[in-house]
Amino acid sequence: MLIFHSAEELQKNLSSTFLSLGLVPTMGALHLGHLSLIEKAIKENTKVVISIYVNPTQFNRPLDLKKYPKNIEKDFEILRPFKKHLILYIPDHKDIYPKGIQRKKYDFGSLSQHMEGKVRPGHFDGVATVIEALFKKIKPNKAYFGEKDFQQLQIIRSLGEKLNLGIEIIACPLIRSNNGLALSSRNSLLSNKQREAATIIYETFNLINTKASVWSIKKMKLFFKSKVEANEGFKLEYFCIADPCDLIPVTYLDSKKNYRIFIAVFAGKTRLIDNVKLVRM
Ligand code: AMP
Repeated sequence: MLIFHSAEELQKNLSSTFLSLGLVPTMGALHLGHLSLIEKAIKENTKVVISIYVNPTQFNRPLDLKKYPKNIEKDFEILRPFKKHLILYIPDHKDIYPKGIQRKKYDFGSLSQHMEGKVRPGHFDGVATVIEALFKKIKPNKAYFGEKDFQQLQIIRSLGEKLNLGIEIIACPLIRSNNGLALSSRNSLLSNKQREAATIIYETFNLINTKASVWSIKKMKLFFKSKVEANEGFKLEYFCIADPCDLIPVTYLDSKKNYRIFIAVFAGKTRLIDNVKLVRM
């Protein structure tokens, strides 16, 4: 597998005869959720660049950055079967931030004002800074992002429009484990007991969806909170129902509109986020 630590070197090795170059940005500690993006990118492009970079400017809690799981040897193992199609880009900080590690400021309007944007100040500016750098350095035709981070996906779509680099943003469905837990690198920080208990999140989403046509949003939130917080060490950070286009949380449902449920939960010290389409049966 071709591995580069500098985008300049990577560009020198890219053949100009590529029909299409895909990009899958990741922070490593790869799992089947990442692989679903990689497989889709391989199907749709001649070559695919996977970036592995734990971007410091998107972390608003220093301890979260320090504890972020890293396992580059296992990442190589996971990527090995696809090596013919992949180029691995593992930049050092200088390659992404030649002028020093600093986030740029963006205006994404309502997309960055609620949920993750509200509880993690600066997070989306950090995400947009690294994605802008990757887009400009790698120059892909298509870039792949998971609905696991739905708010991030909408922000990147907006960033793509602002930058106007002609990069197609491809959304990929959220992948769950068999018991419904959304796959995430941070799941490796959970104890077995916490991992088992965290399945209550998806279970409760499904219960809420069976009641969504009769319950108020307040009732849904209270129900979700009580179910989740019945588990030792679990604490709800937010439960929002929002329009997937503007990501503004609503307090009542308009029967003609579509919505998603967005949550963040602390399982002990590990923060989990998840989202699902609100279905009114
Ligand atoms: P991360 O390494 O967490 O920054 O994630 C890299 C990309 O993989 C992002 O676009 C995520 O949304 C996506 N991703 C992470 N987990 C999942 C999952 N369970 N299902 C689908 N996509 C995912």
